[in-house]
Amino acid sequence: MGNRIEVDRDRCKGCGLCVVTCPRQIVELGKEINLKGYHYAVQVDAERCIACQMCAVTCPDVAITVYRAPKKARTAG
Ligand code: SF4
Ligand code: SF4
Repeated sequence: MGNRIEVDRDRCKGCGLCVVTCPRQIVELGKEINLKGYHYAVQVDAERCIACQMCAVTCPDVAITVYRAPKKARTAG
């Protein structure tokens, strides 16, 4: 699995900061509503995520976790 983010949807307040901060513009506010009644953030194109952490660092509610793809194991020699 490649890089990706996970949004804790019920922590999200739909402020959109992660949307504007993502250098790849792959975070959007989705159509679905969370328990607080906000449109929460979703990643739309994980394939393009560079795991830069900008979204996670920017989120005032610490709702985003970034998962970086494991490096391929080096072959011996
Ligand atoms: S880790 Fe970086 S590239 Fe990936 S969604 Fe967050 S801000 Fe965008
Ligand atoms: S910055 Fe955090 S609270 Fe704001 S929309 Fe993104 S995930 Fe939700």
